Formats: sequence, structure tokens, C-alpha cells
Amino acid sequence: MPENPIIPPFKLCGNIYFVGEYRASSHLIDTGEGLILIDTGYEETADIIMDNMKTLGFDIKDVKIILFSHGHGDHVYGTRKLLEHCAPETYIAEEDLRYIGEKGLKIHEHLVFVPNHYIKDGMTIKLGNTEILCMYTPGHTMGTYSFFWDVEENGVTYRAGMFGGAGVNQMKKGFLDERDLYYFQRGHFYESLDKLKDIKVDVFVGNHVWNNDTYGRYLKSLESDKNPFIDDKAFGNFINGKYPEMDKMIKADTADHFVNFAHRGASEYAPENTIMSFYLGMFMGANGIETDVQKTKDGVLVLFHDDTLERVTGESGTIEDYTFEELQRFNVKKGELTDKIVSFEDFLIHFAHRNITFAIELKKAGLEKEVSELIYKYGIEKKCVVTSFKYDALVAMKSASPKLKLGYLTADVTDGILENMKRDGIDEICPKAGNISADDVWKWQKMGFNVRAWGVSDEAVMKKAYDDGVNGMTCNFPDKLAETLKE
Ligand SMILES: [Zn+2]
Repeated sequence: MPENPIIPPFKLCGNIYFVGEYRASSHLIDTGEGLILIDTGYEETADIIMDNMKTLGFDIKDVKIILFSHGHGDHVYGTRKLLEHCAPETYIAEEDLRYIGEKGLKIHEHLVFVPNHYIKDGMTIKLGNTEILCMYTPGHTMGTYSFFWDVEENGVTYRAGMFGGAGVNQMKKGFLDERDLYYFQRGHFYESLDKLKDIKVDVFVGNHVWNNDTYGRYLKSLESDKNPFIDDKAFGNFINGKYPEMDKMIKADTADHFVNFAHRGASEYAPENTIMSFYLGMFMGANGIETDVQKTKDGVLVLFHDDTLERVTGESGTIEDYTFEELQRFNVKKGELTDKIVSFEDFLIHFAHRNITFAIELKKAGLEKEVSELIYKYGIEKKCVVTSFKYDALVAMKSASPKLKLGYLTADVTDGILENMKRDGIDEICPKAGNISADDVWKWQKMGFNVRAWGVSDEAVMKKAYDDGVNGMTCNFPDKLAETLKE
């Protein structure tokens, strides 16, 4: 079979026709009082759709409704061209406007259209003999809808169904991070599968040809009197097969993106939160740096963990009691080694350009705006997560810089905390390593959380947290974690 075989337009069942192409499906429903088109494919798919309709004897002008399963380009980009030939009502989820451009803006040179209607959960769309039930099934995108409707063939009524977005690769970390999307889409996807798995569908209409083997069934239909698309197992089997596929994706993604954060640098061996310590961490194989931000008396952001200077410098007072210049007189110590307190900006000059992940902990509320400005000034916004034990600081950061990834540090994770985090768009949970189990971690990851452990007090705790399946951890001895990862 060629990679993208040409599929001639054909009648799929009753009044449902396939008019798309192998790469991008598009279906037409002849309602008797006008045509409904579901999805418009890529920009160049529009011509294929129009040719296919002509071949089947339909007139593009009779398209009264275009319905979109979700907003990705392979489902919507053909719209502009089609709208030059017909004037249908267009229905898409409001959540997916980001893909078509709000208010008809251009995205990637694809113009895009202004929809007439937003699809809502439970809504029915009626035209002629057809009534389509729209079910909200987010995950693949936040505006994915699935469609169900009756279709009649040879006097028998069947239930047709389409899952509006089944691909799991669009929920990989890289894909989501690149587009400033929440990992929560993963949790929504599982919830959508739960909603869909027991729905009775006799005719599975594919949102892509590989969902329902559109092409294979079409070829079969040429040699059979029975309609191969009438198959009351196909939809359920497909939905149930998505659970293990999703599980596998998440596990692989966790392994691919595991982050070994040098905790305040390689703080087991060097003065914590200093340039020396950060470089040593990297030298030892860390692919992430965790650090803490506070503010001096004269308003300079510096990297320092404790409330007081005593433990690591032997001096009295707090960071806030001194100007940055005054703080430079002090030494941060680890055994015989010493280094200076470093400003957040100097740290960024040294490390921002490196291909590593940053975990920046806000020690106090009120630093959000300045921290965020430096994050953007040095371009680390796509490779950092801002964390805090202070939930208010995270909420403030969310309103100051809505696109930054946020992580909540907490000794104990409760359902209430997780609910709040979902509500507030905080999708990294940072539990204490000693308090978690593999079941917890997997449960949280399936909800869509990135799980990063802290409080890795010794090698046994480190190995246990790694075996529990976390996405990363902060570690004072990144060399030992790097060694474990090699094994
Ligand atoms: Zn898609």
C-alpha cells in the first residue's frame, strides 16, 4: 500500500459519505434538506473535498453546516477555501479558537474563519433527517467534541459515532510545552475515554482513517454485500485500546524527560546556591538546576535558601537586612570551600543559555513580577518551572505571567490540593520523596500532573523515588542520581 493511498469518495453508510483524503478525513451527511460537512482537512484538502462532492453528485453550495471535531490544522485549514463556494453555519468549540485565530486572525498564514456557533456539551445540531448529538471529550485538544447520530440503511437505523480527537502524541510534554498547554489535557483524555467507552455505536466514523480503518473497510466493501462499516464492536474496541496507548505514552514521556535537578547546585559537595555549586552539579551530570530566590534590602534578587544567614555563612541577620554589596563581604561555606552569594541575574548570565531545566523557588510572595521579568529577559520561560511552598505566591505568579509553568511544593498531597491546582492551572506537584508511593505518582500523572520529588535525603530515598516513577527530583548529590539513571 502506498503511504497515502488515494481514497475515492464513497458512501460509508446510509446518508454518510467519505469525501476527504487519507491524511485528513472529511465526512458529508446528506440530510435531505442540505448537507452537513464534518471537518475540512488541510488547506489543500478543500479542493479534494470539492472534487469528491462533485464526483458523488453533490453541490458545494448545498453545504449548510460545517462541524469541527477539534481545532487542529488537519481538521480546519480547508475551511477558508470552502467558504468561497458556500455559506454554511460553522460550529467549533470555543476552547479551540486558539487554533483558528480568535476574531478571524491569521495563524501561520492560514486564514482562518470566524465561526458562527460554539459547540456546547449535550447540544444537538439538526438539519433535515439528521440530529447530531455533541459530546464534550477534551484531551487531544481542550475543545475536542465527539458526535453521535442516527443513520438509516436498508430500512435499519444504526447509531453512528465519531471520537473527535484520539491521537495521544499531542499530549507529549514537548508538544504541550511548545504551545503553553497544560499537562491536564492527559487527565481530561482519560475522563473522555470513560465517558465514551460504554456508548453503543454501530457505525464508527473515523476522525482519521487509522481510527476505524476507513481505507481497509472501503476496500472490503468493494468485494462484499455486507457493509463493513456496520460493526458494533469497532468503536468500543478503539476506545478501550486508547487506555494502554495513553499509559504507554506517559511512561515513555516520563523516561524521556526525566530531570535530575542539582538541588541548590551540588550542595552536598559545594557551598549551596553558588556559581561553584551549580557548575559542579552540571559537571556531575545534572540536567536541571533548582534554586531559591529572595530579595536584598536594596531590591536585588539573590539566590539564597534560609530565612537567616547563620547556617551557611555564619553571619547574623537575614538577606533583607543587607544590601547586595554588603552581602558580598560574606562567604557561603561548605567545609573548606567558599563562594559568594550570587544575584539571580548573574546566575542567568551563566546558565540561561544551557540546555537544562530550571526550578526557581519563590521563598516569599511579592517577588513574582521581578522574577518573571528576568525569566523572560534571559529567555528561559520554556525551560523553567517556578515553584513555591506558598500557594499564594504561585497564584500571584499565574496572574503576573500566565504562561509560566508552576509547581507546588508540599509535604503531603491531598485531593483538595490537587483540585485547587487544577482550578488554578498549576500542573506540577512537588511532594516530599519519602511520603509517596508508586501508586500515588501514577495516579497523579494520569490526572495530568508532572510529579517532581523533593527532600531526597539519602540514596535509598533517591532510588525509591526513582522507582516510584517521578518525572524528576531535586538532589544534593546529582552524581549519584546520574549514576542510577545510567543503570
Ligand atoms: Zn488533532
